[in-house]
Amino acid sequence: MTAQPPFKRIALIGLGLIGSSLARGIRQLGLAGELVATDASAEVRARAAEIKLADRIADDNASAVKDADLVIACVPVGISGAVAQSIGPHLTPGAIVSDVGSVKASVLRAMAEHLPANVHFIPAHPVAGTENSGPDSGFAELFSNRWCILTPPEGADTAAVEKLEQFWSALGANVEIMDAGHHDLVLAVTSHLPHLIAYTIVGTADELEDVTRSEVLKFSAGGFRDFTRIAASDPTMWRDVFLANKDAVLEMLGTFQEDLSKLTRAIRRDDGEALFEHFSRTRAIRRGIVNLGQDEAAADFGRKHTALTKKAE
Ligand code: NAP
Repeated sequence: MTAQPPFKRIALIGLGLIGSSLARGIRQLGLAGELVATDASAEVRARAAEIKLADRIADDNASAVKDADLVIACVPVGISGAVAQSIGPHLTPGAIVSDVGSVKASVLRAMAEHLPANVHFIPAHPVAGTENSGPDSGFAELFSNRWCILTPPEGADTAAVEKLEQFWSALGANVEIMDAGHHDLVLAVTSHLPHLIAYTIVGTADELEDVTRSEVLKFSAGGFRDFTRIAASDPTMWRDVFLANKDAVLEMLGTFQEDLSKLTRAIRRDDGEALFEHFSRTRAIRRGIVNLGQDEAAADFGRKHTALTKKAE
């Protein structure tokens, strides 16, 4: 890229799947004059330096954000408030501060109270992921043709929102702007509930006494294998997601339990018509997802690596 990079210095805090994918994308596309990154774990920082994830690996959050015009926290949602507290006094006036958390309303509340009024806080959630974590698991194409939802608080600076929008577009994402509470409700059904179901089913199968573990592994292609992949997702991240999005998840879980009871009743009553009608409706939903080009996986589930097609402007 020959033009000036859109940001002089980008700081990434947390170098797991999302942070290390961002680092690779930012460097590959030349989106920052300098990329500085850090992580709470000394082991992760050492690995990040070894594989050259950033131009500079800082020892702590405060020094990482110094003079940065874009700061992105890529940490589990439960720690985002503490991260905001650690960087608040060290931010440059006018900087854009964002995150990538899978839950938005509680993160917005937790971070906003520690950030100075002279920075632009614009939370974001790239709806893209795999079940892997750590600095080696990231790849620049992760966000390509995936949604990234921005949830700017009321009165957010339009130019800053647009700049963050352009940043995610450069990484190949389709950007949507949404209210934080609405985001949490939508993601509760499209991502959080499916993960909860996967965690449940895999746990249930593991506890069955009359089905041996080897049989579960042997016949896992019958649908179970996909659940095991989802249920392998990071325990810290998902514990935090369910605690941070408790209300929306409980609301969706209530609706899900009612629907499950209807299907249970149809099976008990040999009501083939009800089952057929339900399965036809869900098949149409799947076809709609495929037609929208989101067919490799549902939100936050694993997907294949594809070539990064969109270049930064
Ligand atoms: P991850 O692979 O577990 O990485 C998180 C990293 O943050 C870890 O290296 C962790 O270090 C570090 N960290 C924790 N506390 C920190 C602190 N106080 N300061 C600096 N670094 C800290 O997680 P991830 O999958 O990248 O997820 C990060 C965020 O992205 C989460 O909020 C998640 O909700 C969101 N997200 C995830 C996905 C997905 O599919 N994975 C998709 C979309 C959004 P330690 O290992 O030492 O704790």
